[in-house]
Amino acid sequence: MTAPVDLQHILSCVDGYDPDALRVDQALDILRAGIKPVQTTEKLAIRAALGRVLAHDLISPIDVPSHDNSAMDGYALRSSDLATQGDTVLTIAGRGLAGHAFDGDVPPRSAVRIMTGAVMPEGCDTVVPQELCHVEGATLTLPPGRVRPGDNRRLRGEDLARGKAALPAGKLLRPADLGLLASLGLSEVPVRRRLRVAIVSSGDELRSVGQPLDPGCVYDSNRYTLWGMLERLGCDVIDLGVVPDNPQAVETSLRHAAECADVVLTSGGVSVGEADYLRSTLAALGEVLFWRIAMRPGRPLAFGQLHGDAHRAWLFGLPGNPVAVMVTFYALVRPALLHGMGALDMPQPLLRARSTQALRKRPGRTEYQRGLLAALPGGGWQVSPLGNQGAGVLSSMSQAHGLIVLHHDQETVQAGEDVDVLLFEGLV
Ligand code: AMP
Ligand code: MG
Repeated sequence: MTAPVDLQHILSCVDGYDPDALRVDQALDILRAGIKPVQTTEKLAIRAALGRVLAHDLISPIDVPSHDNSAMDGYALRSSDLATQGDTVLTIAGRGLAGHAFDGDVPPRSAVRIMTGAVMPEGCDTVVPQELCHVEGATLTLPPGRVRPGDNRRLRGEDLARGKAALPAGKLLRPADLGLLASLGLSEVPVRRRLRVAIVSSGDELRSVGQPLDPGCVYDSNRYTLWGMLERLGCDVIDLGVVPDNPQAVETSLRHAAECADVVLTSGGVSVGEADYLRSTLAALGEVLFWRIAMRPGRPLAFGQLHGDAHRAWLFGLPGNPVAVMVTFYALVRPALLHGMGALDMPQPLLRARSTQALRKRPGRTEYQRGLLAALPGGGWQVSPLGNQGAGVLSSMSQAHGLIVLHHDQETVQAGEDVDVLLFEGLV
């Protein structure tokens, strides 16, 4: 994923490229065009593969289910034995349980007592649920119109057919997929290796937890939110600590990061302040593809490639403000990392919710506000922006259910209008 960049190719993927004010969707196009997915694969036991990306299409080695079977507790019969008029009267010829098939012949005008999951007896094609018929001794009476031919029978291979693709390459494996792999009898699965992502905080004022908080200093929270978001995504996180506002120190740290990571996420020091060395260091050590996004929060955001002595790594220079770090991560870094992991592009669903308040919005940038959701009595949802939307206010990020997304061209929203909400719940 860290091959040399073909800048012209990448930038040709984006209409109207302006490195000074990129739209969020243009930035995503550049990220997807530039970042090549990791190629190395490994085989894992299925439980260890949760959250990993499937390396190849997986072809089903068997039919699931491997035999026609009953979907109900009831009686298996031949549909040709159903009376065209009046009751159907059949003789019960035996019994089949899940794991213990009825293996005799079913004589004409007979039925077999059958339990859910039991193999369909030879010749039978329909199951009548037990509550629909009347049984006395070995005689079953079924009133007319209760079943149609083929009812309550699960067909061999109806879930997964032998020789057909059961899962596509690039699938991010979820609990259903682990069960599906097990249903195929597979104990191992080929997945792409994890992405290695290094995190670095920059700022003279930053102190790490465990250190005394000197006057004028703040604790470094970004390495914790970033660690949490990266862990959830299934990345290998390399914590490179805090680097002071000093060009030499920033360069040393980035050179080291380029050697050990696929992607480096820095926070802070990326704007145009006097102590901001990230962008200039990235330019000196590699290429900068963009450095500003038309979004709020998160406008200063540098992206480019770092050239180490032996390796290259992609670098996201995120803003320092703790909320801006999280918003830029969800809007840009997370989709880019999923792409680098080899995952198929997945749409991120947005919930439509009625805004309880007017939301001031300037067209020409994407804005994100922290919001609280509540169910409306008549159905649907409403969303209220949280009081303090400051880019440094992490507490409202912690309280929020999601981010209200005000799209690039959108204007001020009136109270009662519907808006899109990106839910935190459901983000891997
Ligand atoms: P900067 O982008 O370096 O100008 O930082 C913007 C704001 O974010 C400043 O108030 C910084 O103190 C704060 N900040 C930067 N990095 C961190 C961090 N790792 N943890 C908490 N706050 C930070
Ligand atoms: Mg700073």
